[in-house]
Amino acid sequence: MTIGIVGAGQLGRMMALAGYPLGLDFLFLDKDAHTPGGQVGPLLAGALTDRSLLGQLSQRCDVLTFDWENIPVEALENLPGQARIAPPLRALGCAQDRLREKRTFELLGIPTTKYAAVDSRKSLELAVNSIGLPGVLKTRRMGYDGKGQFVLRKPDDLDRAWDVLGKAALLYENLVPFDAEVSVIAVRGADGKLAFYPLNLNVHRDGILRLTRAPYGHAALTRQAQRAARKVLEHFQYVGVLTIEFFVKRGRLIANEMAPRVHNSGHWTIEGADTSQFENHVRAIAGMPLGSTKARGHSAMINLVGEMPTRDPLLAEAALHWHDYGKTARPGRKLGHVTICETSAKTRDLRALRLLSRIDRATWLAIR
Ligand code: AMP
Repeated sequence: MTIGIVGAGQLGRMMALAGYPLGLDFLFLDKDAHTPGGQVGPLLAGALTDRSLLGQLSQRCDVLTFDWENIPVEALENLPGQARIAPPLRALGCAQDRLREKRTFELLGIPTTKYAAVDSRKSLELAVNSIGLPGVLKTRRMGYDGKGQFVLRKPDDLDRAWDVLGKAALLYENLVPFDAEVSVIAVRGADGKLAFYPLNLNVHRDGILRLTRAPYGHAALTRQAQRAARKVLEHFQYVGVLTIEFFVKRGRLIANEMAPRVHNSGHWTIEGADTSQFENHVRAIAGMPLGSTKARGHSAMINLVGEMPTRDPLLAEAALHWHDYGKTARPGRKLGHVTICETSAKTRDLRALRLLSRIDRATWLAIR
């Protein structure tokens, strides 16, 4: 069976690396072979929206999936080939638009931020009047890693925010004074069976994920997160891995956003769970039984952002798992990650902080 992956970033690459041992083949579509996925598997070179290449992908593969959620749904609709598409395009379309996403959370009874659609300077003013300050103005589409966001703290900020973002369709929401950020990674098989990974405790800086620790063994929050994920998975008759990110405030979860794909906060599952999120995603979309999502010990994952640290002193550490995506360094770009797995949460946290102080001092200073 061949799986076509639209987008050959690190997520696609990790899917392929997890799928080869299952006897699966892969074919990527992305701009060139110097992408993380292109370094490990065959690739059709071109734009992610190229209908002719997408058609070829669909003809040569049994299933199509994607490693980036901003591929226009129209580009993937009614392709000439026979390949199934998973996760479903309805879920992809919803996750591409923050307004649809919020409405879906509301429809399913999943608590989310207060929000209002903004499409003019006047509607921004109305949104700020009704929701209040501080708040975040976000582009409805194409936002990731904190891109396309502007935090408004005082009335004077409206003009500046409008100048920066006013050309796009927008959403205004309240700035949540959260106690923590968590995410749940869930998977639904082709037969409708569900599985959930333990909760992830996440630290972001400048909108980019820096550190994940898991399992975050908070039973009540885990129940809330799994209930929310179940609702979304069943609503879309979903197949594959789904992620929902939440703010935690006074013991309650507030949904921030969802991703219809494997997720950065689940990278620890490669070494830290019985079956990784990548393997379970390909198992689900290939129609195979899901594997156990149980954690093996206590893991921490640190993202390598902007520049790679010197490798060998870190490799010399006992049981440190190094992942270099083979990308060119650029400020704010995710270039790799490291994972550690420990036998207790306490030793994991101590070691994670020590590593963070070497790899990402600014985040370490913010949380120590
Ligand atoms: P997003 O792209 O929406 O996931 O935002 C990236 C990060 O920015 C989040 O993980 C939070 O750390 C922060 N952020 C985004 N929206 C809000 C909000 N409404 N309240 C507080 N923090 C936010």
